[in-house]
Amino acid sequence: MATENQNSTAKNVIFMLPDGASASYMANYRYFKEGSEGPVWEPLLKGMVQTDSFNNPITDSAAGANAYATGVKTRNGSVGVDFFGNELTSVTDLASDAGKATGIVSTAAITDASPAAFGASNPQRGNQADIAQQYIGDNELDVVLGAGRNQFTTEGEGGTQPDGTDLFGLAEQQGMTYVSSAEELAAFDGERVLGLFNDEDYLDAIGERPAEEPSLEQMTEVALDTLSKDEDGFVLFLEEENTDTFGHAKDAATTMHALSSFEASMQKVLEFQKENPDTLVVMAADHDTGGMTVQPSAEASPAVFRDFTATAEEMAEQFDAADTASIRDTVAAGTGLTLSDEEITELQGSEDTALALAELLSAKGGVEFTTTGHTAVDVPIFATGPGAELFTGVQENAAVGQHLAEAMGLALPDDQQDGGADRLAVTSLFDSAFGGIPTVNTIRNLVSQIGDDGLDALADRFANLWSGLDDADFLSSVLENTLDTVPEEADLAYWTGVLETNGGDRGEVLLAISGLPEHQEALLEIPVSNTEFSPIA
Ligand SMILES: [Zn+2]
Repeated sequence: MATENQNSTAKNVIFMLPDGASASYMANYRYFKEGSEGPVWEPLLKGMVQTDSFNNPITDSAAGANAYATGVKTRNGSVGVDFFGNELTSVTDLASDAGKATGIVSTAAITDASPAAFGASNPQRGNQADIAQQYIGDNELDVVLGAGRNQFTTEGEGGTQPDGTDLFGLAEQQGMTYVSSAEELAAFDGERVLGLFNDEDYLDAIGERPAEEPSLEQMTEVALDTLSKDEDGFVLFLEEENTDTFGHAKDAATTMHALSSFEASMQKVLEFQKENPDTLVVMAADHDTGGMTVQPSAEASPAVFRDFTATAEEMAEQFDAADTASIRDTVAAGTGLTLSDEEITELQGSEDTALALAELLSAKGGVEFTTTGHTAVDVPIFATGPGAELFTGVQENAAVGQHLAEAMGLALPDDQQDGGADRLAVTSLFDSAFGGIPTVNTIRNLVSQIGDDGLDALADRFANLWSGLDDADFLSSVLENTLDTVPEEADLAYWTGVLETNGGDRGEVLLAISGLPEHQEALLEIPVSNTEFSPIA
């Protein structure tokens, strides 16, 4: 196929993320679309992605997108940083350094975790005001489009920025045009744009769109028109958020409408790719949300969701829960379905009416959910264009990030290879030798020194720094550094025995002590700050 030239590099990369939409969302979507053509992504299937984060089989959107953006697995809750909070280089940074244009577009607050991993660095995804400051302050992104204007406005204006901050003024000084409605976005024809279309966590997901809010499709077209003006090419991150938001809410109908919005955007992307075959398009969710089931039947198929015009939450806010007629009329208006008396009685007896309504209506389409959180199931990955074959087979989410860089003929830094495992390895060795966590520059330096023999030579060098100590003092120092407590006699005796039998190789003993399971566990429990991490979202 002309679009899969294996010998060329990708001038442009478009990474498309339907948040939380695993294979079951895509299967249900096929039934949702019943009667029309199959989803546009289906012919582009390449493989599957393992979605676990550094320390949790179930990732959140922060760590998931971080793996795609930087090639490094991190802890849940972190964006653009490694497990210890050290800043990482993203494919966006690489592209920008190579003279390419860059953009992030989402139906979420643009400062939310997934776009943040591609445009900022923060150990805490919740620090959205800081993330907004980085987007503008770094002066790197050319296109920033989404919800969440309140993260850019000041506290005095009802936003989250400290009073006196003027991100809009700074953006304009740097040549970005600010637009705040679909109409202004349509009229935009410059080279750099900041578009924020509401103060919420996401753009409208179902039914008639508020006039000021653009669709993902419209934002996609403007992003492509704008970024493709750069002759060096571009990297664009595109996200549909409402698949995840309403997967959490067990609202299958709204997730299907969100996927429909995503497909319209992908259609535009694929048309662009056809005209610009030096463009790599990759699509993958970051994880599954909700453990959605796929059980369509003659009585209950996702096709029923097509007539829905409101989320379950919106309907639950509208009706008077004490009034049977109010519930029946509101649900009929929002879905075209008439609830039975039994169903209404059951809704009235539930603790969380919105959630119970979402479950009830999802079941009308043959869909159930196993959790309000995420699951660890693999997600499919789709690709077309130069480098598409790199995504074949089953791969780790971190490998996807490496491949995005590789497809452009670029490489993420040495210390970001191996999914970041080498960063933990040198951190662990350093802590045993010196009793502290190294700085990011030290980590980078040490990772670059990892040889073909792994950490052996590095461990020998560290151990030699203690050549002035006798064996007993060396061992007690290393054990105390490692376990953060004065070592017991039995441990000292054990490791003295090891030293005697290995011919006095202190490097080997240092490495073995640093790899003790209790040390690895303790390292993985170090908080990156005192603030509570956000729950999986
Ligand atoms: Zn989520």
